[in-house]
Amino acid sequence: MIPFQDDLSRRLKAIRADGLYREVRETGSAQGAHVTVEGKRLLNFSSNDYLGLANHPAVKQAAREAIDKYGAGSGSARLICGSLKVHQELEHAIADFKGTEAAVSFSSGYATALGTICALLEKDDVIVIDKLVHACIVDGARLSGATLRVFPHNDVTELEDILKWAREKNARRILIVTESVFSMDGDLAPLREIVELKDRYGAWLMVDEAHATGLFGANRRGVAEAFELAGRVEIQMGTLGKALGSAGGYICGSRALIELLINRARTFLFSTAPVPAATAAAKAAIEVVRSAEGEELRTRLWARVDQLKNGLVGGPWKLPVVQSPIIPIVIGDEARAMEVAAQFRSRGILIPAVRHPTVARGQARLRLTVSAAHTPEDVQEFLHASAGQT
Ligand SMILES: *Cc1c(COP(=O)(O)O)cnc(C)c1O
Repeated sequence: MIPFQDDLSRRLKAIRADGLYREVRETGSAQGAHVTVEGKRLLNFSSNDYLGLANHPAVKQAAREAIDKYGAGSGSARLICGSLKVHQELEHAIADFKGTEAAVSFSSGYATALGTICALLEKDDVIVIDKLVHACIVDGARLSGATLRVFPHNDVTELEDILKWAREKNARRILIVTESVFSMDGDLAPLREIVELKDRYGAWLMVDEAHATGLFGANRRGVAEAFELAGRVEIQMGTLGKALGSAGGYICGSRALIELLINRARTFLFSTAPVPAATAAAKAAIEVVRSAEGEELRTRLWARVDQLKNGLVGGPWKLPVVQSPIIPIVIGDEARAMEVAAQFRSRGILIPAVRHPTVARGQARLRLTVSAAHTPEDVQEFLHASAGQT
């Protein structure tokens, strides 16, 4: 038997040798266009705080008031004594915002996907996921015990082949899961084709709008709204930790779906209720998103995305078609991506390299994200530093 410490050091050595070693760095400031990392002020192009709400006065004030009223902790799981008025208020606000019958919140997006997929599926069911979905969907799929099939990224022809196979084997339930905006590539799923396929084959669809909520659609509900498909998606998921600037996750849909999750989602049943501060902050953030200010923030965000995209044309990087505030600069080699990130950092710009296992091996990249908190001058500064890259 290998001794414990020997095993750890051997594995850490292998991680380093692969260029995949990671360490946490201390940020000593609030989220924003600028952050202080290990004492150094850096221009931040890596956050998911797309609308700048993580440090918004009204959002912070709501968190403070919730602490004064309900305290720091929730005391227990929701079904024991931890279901506070703020949780109910948030869930009403989510359902109203998204235009669904009901909603339920979880302590993280990760817990949302895990709990929901496992509550809906069991052995002998089939789950079909896009190759590039987030780790929490993959883990939920595996844990559910359902038969897992993966289709190549955004490939609806392959998806249809899998649906045919699932129907031939008389699967009782078939669940397709995709993201609407993909977290590491920033591209959109072909939702219209996927919705048509799932209807044709009697499958159900779960769409993770983690990177779309607050940014897309007439009411900023997400890509499903933008494509006028929201009413045809059985399970709509999102996070409260990205454009909504707080922490947590949610599912919205029919009342029966929400009732089932409250009864069966283990990450809901067996985990302490989200803290009052985060819950109230998320509710306040939804109010900002729905207001005239929210529309203004979104307009500003897209203006910055355009400025950055146009400024990068003809530069040293090969850019994908930009469809969201997530712009991947794919470098490929892990060590090389780390070098480029370090060059940006030495010029005062924070864009950490994203490597395996977050993305595939040999697909290392700088995941550039734009926020409404950026000024035109911030974008200009990034473009200037980028032009100096080799
Ligand atoms: C971030 C993310 C999650 C997880 O959400 P957390 O609230 O951070 O746990 C789920 N799905 C996608 C697509 C994400 O990008």
